[in-house]
Amino acid sequence: MTGALTIAGLGPGDAALITPEVAAALADATDVVGYTPYVARVAAREGLVLHASDNRQELLRAAEAMRLAAAGRRVVVVSSGDPGVFAMASAVFETLEASPQWQGLIIRVLPGVTAMLAAAARAGAPLGHDFCAINLSDNLKPWSLIEKRLRLAAEADFAIALYNPRSASRPEGFARALEVLKEAGCSDRITIFAHAVTTPEERIEALPLRDARPAMADMRTIVIVGNSATRRAGRWIYAPRRAS
Ligand code: SAH
Repeated sequence: MTGALTIAGLGPGDAALITPEVAAALADATDVVGYTPYVARVAAREGLVLHASDNRQELLRAAEAMRLAAAGRRVVVVSSGDPGVFAMASAVFETLEASPQWQGLIIRVLPGVTAMLAAAARAGAPLGHDFCAINLSDNLKPWSLIEKRLRLAAEADFAIALYNPRSASRPEGFARALEVLKEAGCSDRITIFAHAVTTPEERIEALPLRDARPAMADMRTIVIVGNSATRRAGRWIYAPRRAS
Protein backbone atom coordinates (compact mmCIF):
# COMPACT_ATOMS: atom_id res chain seq x y z
CA MET A 1 0.00 0.00 0.00
CA THR A 2 1.89 3.09 -1.22
CA GLY A 3 -0.87 5.66 -1.60
CA ALA A 4 -1.65 8.45 0.79
CA LEU A 5 -4.76 10.22 1.96
CA THR A 6 -4.59 13.92 2.76
CA ILE A 7 -7.56 15.73 4.28
CA ALA A 8 -7.21 19.42 3.51
CA GLY A 9 -9.02 22.69 4.15
CA LEU A 10 -9.35 25.19 1.29
CA GLY A 11 -10.11 28.16 3.55
CA PRO A 12 -13.17 30.41 3.30
CA GLY A 13 -12.96 31.26 -0.42
CA ASP A 14 -10.07 33.54 -1.37
CA ALA A 15 -7.23 31.54 -2.96
CA ALA A 16 -4.77 33.70 -1.00
CA LEU A 17 -6.03 31.97 2.15
CA ILE A 18 -5.12 28.47 0.95
CA THR A 19 -2.05 27.58 3.01
CA PRO A 20 1.19 26.76 1.16
CA GLU A 21 1.01 23.27 2.71
CA VAL A 22 -2.42 22.64 1.18
CA ALA A 23 -1.33 24.13 -2.18
CA ALA A 24 1.64 21.72 -2.22
CA ALA A 25 -0.60 18.73 -1.44
CA LEU A 26 -2.94 19.71 -4.30
CA ALA A 27 -0.01 20.14 -6.68
CA ASP A 28 1.18 16.62 -5.81
CA ALA A 29 -2.24 14.93 -5.89
CA THR A 30 -3.48 12.40 -8.42
CA ASP A 31 -7.07 12.62 -7.18
CA VAL A 32 -9.18 15.27 -5.45
CA VAL A 33 -12.37 14.14 -3.73
CA GLY A 34 -15.09 16.35 -2.26
CA TYR A 35 -18.41 18.15 -2.38
CA THR A 36 -18.95 19.61 -5.88
CA PRO A 37 -18.55 23.37 -5.07
CA TYR A 38 -15.33 22.71 -3.16
CA VAL A 39 -13.82 20.48 -5.87
CA ALA A 40 -14.69 23.28 -8.34
CA ARG A 41 -12.21 25.50 -6.48
CA VAL A 42 -9.32 23.19 -7.46
CA ALA A 43 -7.76 23.99 -10.84
CA ALA A 44 -7.96 21.15 -13.35
CA ARG A 45 -4.64 19.94 -14.74
CA GLU A 46 -3.36 16.94 -16.64
CA GLY A 47 -2.88 13.91 -14.43
CA LEU A 48 -5.36 15.10 -11.81
CA VAL A 49 -8.74 13.33 -11.51
CA LEU A 50 -11.49 15.37 -9.86
CA HIS A 51 -14.20 13.37 -8.02
CA ALA A 52 -17.07 15.72 -7.20
CA SER A 53 -20.05 14.43 -5.23
CA ASP A 54 -23.26 15.67 -3.75
CA ASN A 55 -23.85 17.07 -0.29
CA ARG A 56 -24.66 14.54 2.49
CA GLN A 57 -22.50 11.91 0.74
CA GLU A 58 -19.72 12.23 3.32
CA LEU A 59 -19.31 8.55 4.21
CA LEU A 60 -19.47 7.34 0.59
CA ARG A 61 -16.93 10.02 -0.32
CA ALA A 62 -14.61 9.01 2.53
CA ALA A 63 -14.77 5.35 1.48
CA GLU A 64 -14.08 6.25 -2.15
CA ALA A 65 -11.05 8.30 -1.08
CA MET A 66 -9.72 5.42 1.01
CA ARG A 67 -10.19 2.92 -1.80
CA LEU A 68 -8.23 5.17 -4.16
CA ALA A 69 -5.45 5.73 -1.62
CA ALA A 70 -5.25 2.00 -0.88
CA ALA A 71 -4.82 1.42 -4.62
CA GLY A 72 -1.72 3.63 -4.56
CA ARG A 73 -3.17 7.03 -5.57
CA ARG A 74 -2.24 10.32 -3.85
CA VAL A 75 -5.67 11.49 -2.77
CA VAL A 76 -6.67 14.86 -1.32
CA VAL A 77 -10.10 15.12 0.30
CA VAL A 78 -11.11 18.77 0.30
CA SER A 79 -13.38 20.73 2.62
CA SER A 80 -14.01 24.45 2.78
CA GLY A 81 -12.46 26.28 5.71
CA ASP A 82 -10.82 23.80 8.06
CA PRO A 83 -11.40 20.09 7.38
CA GLY A 84 -11.86 19.34 11.08
CA VAL A 85 -14.61 21.92 11.65
CA PHE A 86 -18.03 20.45 10.73
CA ALA A 87 -16.40 18.85 7.70
CA MET A 88 -14.79 15.79 6.13
CA ALA A 89 -12.06 14.84 8.61
CA SER A 90 -14.50 13.28 11.10
CA ALA A 91 -16.25 11.38 8.28
CA VAL A 92 -12.91 9.91 7.18
CA PHE A 93 -12.07 8.78 10.72
CA GLU A 94 -15.56 7.31 11.22
CA THR A 95 -14.97 5.26 8.08
CA LEU A 96 -11.46 4.30 9.21
CA GLU A 97 -12.70 3.12 12.60
CA ALA A 98 -15.17 0.78 10.91
CA SER A 99 -12.72 -0.45 8.26
CA PRO A 100 -9.74 -2.42 9.61
CA GLN A 101 -8.44 -3.04 6.07
CA TRP A 102 -7.56 0.65 5.71
CA GLN A 103 -5.87 1.19 9.05
CA GLY A 104 -2.39 1.03 7.50
CA LEU A 105 -3.04 4.02 5.21
CA ILE A 106 -0.85 7.06 5.58
CA ILE A 107 -3.21 9.88 6.52
CA ARG A 108 -2.49 13.60 7.03
CA VAL A 109 -4.88 16.34 8.10
CA LEU A 110 -3.94 19.81 6.86
CA PRO A 111 -5.62 22.73 8.63
CA GLY A 112 -7.31 25.64 6.90
CA VAL A 113 -8.74 29.03 7.83
CA THR A 114 -12.18 28.28 9.20
CA ALA A 115 -15.12 30.59 8.43
CA MET A 116 -15.45 32.01 11.95
CA LEU A 117 -11.83 33.20 11.94
CA ALA A 118 -12.14 34.85 8.53
CA ALA A 119 -15.41 36.50 9.61
CA ALA A 120 -14.01 37.60 12.96
CA ALA A 121 -11.03 39.24 11.24
CA ARG A 122 -13.38 41.28 9.03
CA ALA A 123 -15.36 42.51 12.05
CA GLY A 124 -12.38 43.16 14.35
CA ALA A 125 -11.89 40.71 17.23
CA PRO A 126 -15.25 39.33 18.38
CA LEU A 127 -13.56 36.02 19.32
CA GLY A 128 -10.90 37.74 21.43
CA HIS A 129 -12.25 36.23 24.65
CA ASP A 130 -13.75 32.77 25.37
CA PHE A 131 -16.01 31.51 22.62
CA CYS A 132 -17.66 28.40 21.21
CA ALA A 133 -18.89 27.19 17.82
CA ILE A 134 -22.26 25.50 17.28
CA ASN A 135 -23.46 23.83 14.08
CA LEU A 136 -27.16 24.65 13.65
CA SER A 137 -27.76 21.78 11.23
CA ASP A 138 -29.96 19.11 12.81
CA ASN A 139 -29.20 16.52 10.12
CA LEU A 140 -27.06 14.48 12.51
CA LYS A 141 -28.22 15.60 15.96
CA PRO A 142 -31.58 16.37 17.55
CA TRP A 143 -32.79 19.95 17.64
CA SER A 144 -33.26 19.65 21.45
CA LEU A 145 -29.48 19.30 21.82
CA ILE A 146 -28.88 22.43 19.72
CA GLU A 147 -31.28 24.41 21.93
CA LYS A 148 -29.61 23.11 25.09
CA ARG A 149 -26.15 24.11 23.82
CA LEU A 150 -27.40 27.57 22.80
CA ARG A 151 -28.90 28.14 26.26
CA LEU A 152 -25.80 26.96 28.09
CA ALA A 153 -23.46 28.94 25.81
CA ALA A 154 -25.52 32.06 26.54
CA GLU A 155 -25.44 31.34 30.27
CA ALA A 156 -21.66 30.82 30.16
CA ASP A 157 -21.37 34.17 28.36
CA PHE A 158 -19.38 32.76 25.45
CA ALA A 159 -19.24 34.55 22.15
CA ILE A 160 -21.01 32.06 19.87
CA ALA A 161 -20.17 31.28 16.23
CA LEU A 162 -23.13 29.69 14.45
CA TYR A 163 -22.25 27.53 11.44
CA ASN A 164 -24.87 26.28 8.94
CA PRO A 165 -27.46 28.73 10.28
CA ARG A 166 -30.16 28.33 7.66
CA SER A 167 -30.85 26.25 4.58
CA ALA A 168 -33.79 25.76 2.24
CA SER A 169 -34.47 22.38 3.86
CA ARG A 170 -34.32 23.84 7.39
CA PRO A 171 -35.86 27.32 7.14
CA GLU A 172 -37.24 27.34 10.72
CA GLY A 173 -34.22 26.40 12.81
CA PHE A 174 -32.43 29.73 12.76
CA ALA A 175 -35.59 31.65 13.75
CA ARG A 176 -35.94 29.31 16.73
CA ALA A 177 -32.26 29.72 17.59
CA LEU A 178 -32.72 33.51 17.73
CA GLU A 179 -35.75 33.07 20.00
CA VAL A 180 -33.81 30.76 22.33
CA LEU A 181 -30.98 33.29 22.58
CA LYS A 182 -33.43 36.12 23.30
CA GLU A 183 -35.08 34.06 26.03
CA ALA A 184 -31.60 33.41 27.44
CA GLY A 185 -31.03 37.15 27.83
CA CYS A 186 -28.94 37.87 24.73
CA SER A 187 -31.16 40.57 23.13
CA ASP A 188 -28.55 43.32 23.59
CA ARG A 189 -25.62 41.30 22.27
CA ILE A 190 -23.90 42.56 19.12
CA THR A 191 -24.55 40.01 16.38
CA ILE A 192 -22.48 39.80 13.19
CA PHE A 193 -23.81 38.31 9.96
CA ALA A 194 -20.88 37.52 7.68
CA HIS A 195 -21.92 36.32 4.22
CA ALA A 196 -19.52 34.68 1.75
CA VAL A 197 -16.49 36.05 3.56
CA THR A 198 -13.38 36.61 1.37
CA THR A 199 -15.35 36.10 -1.87
CA PRO A 200 -16.60 38.81 -4.27
CA GLU A 201 -20.09 38.43 -2.71
CA GLU A 202 -18.87 39.21 0.80
CA ARG A 203 -21.30 41.18 2.97
CA ILE A 204 -20.87 41.94 6.66
CA GLU A 205 -23.63 43.35 8.84
CA ALA A 206 -23.76 43.87 12.62
CA LEU A 207 -26.69 44.76 14.85
CA PRO A 208 -28.15 43.95 18.30
CA LEU A 209 -29.56 40.42 18.43
CA ARG A 210 -33.06 41.79 19.10
CA ASP A 211 -33.05 43.36 15.61
CA ALA A 212 -31.71 40.27 13.82
CA ARG A 213 -34.11 38.72 11.34
CA PRO A 214 -33.95 35.07 10.21
CA ALA A 215 -33.75 36.08 6.54
CA MET A 216 -30.39 37.77 7.18
CA ALA A 217 -28.72 34.33 7.18
CA ASP A 218 -28.36 31.64 4.54
CA MET A 219 -26.02 28.70 4.06
CA ARG A 220 -23.15 30.97 3.04
CA THR A 221 -23.45 33.03 6.22
CA ILE A 222 -21.70 32.57 9.53
CA VAL A 223 -23.28 34.34 12.49
CA ILE A 224 -21.20 35.48 15.45
CA VAL A 225 -23.12 36.48 18.57
CA GLY A 226 -20.90 38.57 20.84
CA ASN A 227 -20.60 38.03 24.58
CA SER A 228 -22.18 40.47 27.03
CA ALA A 229 -19.08 42.71 26.99
CA THR A 230 -18.53 42.79 23.21
CA ARG A 231 -18.38 46.41 22.10
CA ARG A 232 -17.48 48.74 19.25
CA ALA A 233 -14.33 50.78 18.70
CA GLY A 234 -15.24 53.02 15.79
CA ARG A 235 -16.19 50.69 12.94
CA TRP A 236 -14.62 47.68 14.67
CA ILE A 237 -16.25 45.12 16.97
CA TYR A 238 -14.22 43.39 19.63
CA ALA A 239 -14.43 41.30 22.78
CA PRO A 240 -12.37 42.83 25.59
CA ARG A 241 -9.65 40.54 26.95
CA ARG A 242 -10.90 40.77 30.52
CA ALA A 243 -14.13 39.12 31.59
CA SER A 244 -16.62 41.56 33.12
N1 SAH B 1 -15.31 23.39 7.34
C1 SAH B 1 -15.93 24.69 7.17
C2 SAH B 1 -17.35 24.72 7.69
C3 SAH B 1 -18.30 23.83 6.92
S1 SAH B 1 -19.96 24.00 7.46
C4 SAH B 1 -15.09 25.76 7.85
O1 SAH B 1 -14.17 25.42 8.61
O2 SAH B 1 -15.34 26.94 7.62
C5 SAH B 1 -20.54 25.20 6.25
C6 SAH B 1 -20.85 26.51 6.94
O3 SAH B 1 -19.64 27.25 7.16
C7 SAH B 1 -21.72 27.48 6.15
O4 SAH B 1 -23.11 27.18 6.29
C8 SAH B 1 -21.38 28.80 6.80
O5 SAH B 1 -22.02 28.93 8.05
C9 SAH B 1 -19.89 28.62 7.07
N2 SAH B 1 -19.05 29.19 5.99
C10 SAH B 1 -18.20 28.51 5.19
N3 SAH B 1 -17.56 29.36 4.36
C11 SAH B 1 -18.03 30.59 4.63
C12 SAH B 1 -17.76 31.90 4.11
N4 SAH B 1 -16.85 32.11 3.13
N5 SAH B 1 -18.43 32.94 4.63
C13 SAH B 1 -19.33 32.77 5.62
N6 SAH B 1 -19.61 31.57 6.15
C14 SAH B 1 -18.99 30.49 5.67
